[in-house]
This record gives sequence, structure tokens and C-alpha cells, in this order.
Amino acid sequence: MNDVVIQKTSAFFQEKFGSTPEKVVLSPGRINIIGEHIDYNDGYVLPAAIDKIICFAFSKNNSNESNIIALDLNEEMVVDLTAKVRLSEVVWTNYLLGVVKQLQDNGFNFEGFNCVFSSTIPVGSGLSSSAALECGFLYGINALFQLQIKPVDIALMGQKAEHWVGINCGIMDQFSSVMGLENQVIKIDCKTLEFEYHKADFNEYALILFDSNVKHSLMTSAYNQRRQQCEEGLAILKNNFPEISSFRDCSLEQVQQLQNVMSPNVFKRCSFVVKEIQRVALACAALDQGAIETLGQLMFETHAGLSKEYEVSCDELDYLVDFVKNEKAVVGSRLMGGGFGGCTINLIKKGEEETIKSKLVQGYKTAFGIDLKIYDVKIGNGTSLYETIVS
Ligand code: ADP
Ligand code: MG
Repeated sequence: MNDVVIQKTSAFFQEKFGSTPEKVVLSPGRINIIGEHIDYNDGYVLPAAIDKIICFAFSKNNSNESNIIALDLNEEMVVDLTAKVRLSEVVWTNYLLGVVKQLQDNGFNFEGFNCVFSSTIPVGSGLSSSAALECGFLYGINALFQLQIKPVDIALMGQKAEHWVGINCGIMDQFSSVMGLENQVIKIDCKTLEFEYHKADFNEYALILFDSNVKHSLMTSAYNQRRQQCEEGLAILKNNFPEISSFRDCSLEQVQQLQNVMSPNVFKRCSFVVKEIQRVALACAALDQGAIETLGQLMFETHAGLSKEYEVSCDELDYLVDFVKNEKAVVGSRLMGGGFGGCTINLIKKGEEETIKSKLVQGYKTAFGIDLKIYDVKIGNGTSLYETIVS
């Protein structure tokens, strides 16, 4: 599928601008194996880049203007690089303008270029097409004008571009899009940005995402409330146990000892956070040992926690996870991302994928009247140059 999009993007570039692109960049979406809602709670996450990408074709154009074409939308934007960038009404352009602003604010010199991009990442399903867009675009400008920006800084500047658009995201999405490696997951310490790779060999299991195709509007208010409840809980923990400076110093027993001085919700949130931090460590150990059933069990536990303790699931996501729990071929499943919609991530025995998919498509349609979308994913490389262009 990626070959088709690479070919299509390059061919369109050639037709529109009359030459083959100087640089072709592939920038992936990402999944997160485990470690949900703990990026802002002193925790670790375990994401990976996937084999779904945005392909960008670039060439310099010896002017002060850049022409950028979103091929999937059949829309074009022209950026005057001598002017200060401003937010536009056209949403997709802002992610790219945010990148231009980051480059300008940090004093990087570059000139006009032409760019065409097209994607195989589903948009708005929680696979971080937005991070792929920011990071791939920045990576391409960096390559074209030899700006010598380091990969980690590409991720950080991509994150700042997204903040400028108005989405106060953590670093996980951009970091995994840029730093991903084929068949490796990245354990990221969201506090310090330290990271380590763990081999991800799922043996006889395939990674499959089920897209609930819903997005409930609760997300923003619930997110802010959860953050506040966790802060409140951590303050109580620190008051009672001076040795605690963050959730990662905290045991479940300590949380349980303070149940009577926490509100029921604060208690549930803290219990989830402490257990989820532990689950990420256990998941890394399971991957290292090739114990995929253990990893799957941890994923089911994470879902139960997100649903019952952190309360960020919804009927549709619970249905998708509960359904596959009864299937022997599925060893793990959980909602992925912030919750209230988006995808579940599943580990399904190879050879049995089609049976599970068709049962679930039918069941989901009957239960909610909604068409399930399905994405097969493999763990792929982070943002990189595509070297062999066939014109
Ligand atoms: P996600 O990152 O989970 O896919 P977001 O809402 O964060 O969802 O980002 C999606 C936005 O990114 C889209 O609304 C669009 O503005 C931009 N985008 C992503 N992919 C493309 C694409 N192929 N063409 C144009 N814009 C895109
Ligand atoms: Mg996004």
C-alpha cells in the first residue's frame, strides 16, 4: 500500500512541478502498546511507529514562497516565507504553518520549496496522523536545506507546532513517529525523555486495530478533570509519605492505606496510575521474554482499569474488548489513546484474524448500528528518507 502512495505522490509532483522530487520522506503514524494516561502522571509509555505513513515529495524552488499540496484533499497552500505565519481557517495547513513558525522562531534559514504529500494513515482515529504530518514536513525541510536538526529536536519542534495549532499534546506521538524502529517498541520516560528500545516480536500473533468509529465529546473536560484528580491524589500521597515525590515512587499499598482520606474518584484514579506504571514495566519484561500471552493479559487489565478506575472508556469500546475476551484466538485487547472513542488494539492469533474480524463487524453493527473499521498494523521505522525513486 505504501508503494502505491509513494509512486502516486512522486508522479503527481513530477506532473505539477516538472521534475522529480529532490527528497521523498516517509513519516509514520504510531500505536501505543501499553501505558495510557500516565504520560502526564510521571509514567512511561510503550509506543511504536507503524507501517502506515504520510509520503512527502520535496524540491527547492529558488524563491521565497512554498507551494504545498495535500493530495488526499486536493487542496493547495502557498506560504510567503518572508512574512510572519498566522493561524489559518484551513485546519491541515496549521500543522505545517506551525512547523514553519518553529523553524523561524529558532532562527533556521531556509528558502522556498514545493511539496506534495499523501497518506495511508487513517485521519482522526488516534494513530497520530497529525504527528506524522508535522514531523515528516519538518524532516523534509531539514533534509532539503541541511539544517542539521537532530531527530529528538524534530520531535520536540513537531510537538510545539501542534501546541501552536491548539492541541496541548504530550511528546509521545511525535517522539514515536520520529524515533521508531522496525520491530521495536520504545519505552519512553515522559518526565526526562530518556528512552530505550525493546524488541517486539509478537510471534504467532498479529496486531490489529478495531476502530469504533465514534468520538464522544467528553474527551477534553474529562481529561482536565482526570489531571486535576491525579494532582490532588499525589498531593495527599506526598503529605503522608515524605519519600514519595512522584507516582512512580508509590506502591499500591500506599494508595490503599489512604483510601479513607481520598474521595472515591481520586482513589480510583490513583490506583489506576500506580498499577499502569507497574504494567508498563511488566510488559517490557514480557516482550523481552517473548511472553506474548502475558503481554496480552496486561492489555486486558489496562482496559479494565481505563474503564472502571480511570473511567475514560465508553459502551462501544467496552463492547469491542468484551467481545474478543471470549475468543481464544485473542490474547490481548484494550482501548488505545485518550478514550471515549477511537481504536482498540488487539493481539490476535495469525490465521484466525479473518474469523474474528467478520464476527466482530457483524456484532458491532447489530449492537450499535455502526460500521467497524479495521487496520492491520506492523511496527515500522520512524521518519526517514525514501531513497529509490522510480519515476
Ligand atoms: P490523529 O492525529 O489521531 O489522526 P488529529 O485530529 O490529531 O487526529 O489530526 C488529524 C488532522 O491532521 C486532520 O484533521 C488534518 O488537519 C491533518 N491531517 C492528517 N492527515 C492528513 C492528510 N493526509 N492530508 C491533510 N491533512 C491531514
Ligand atoms: Mg493527532
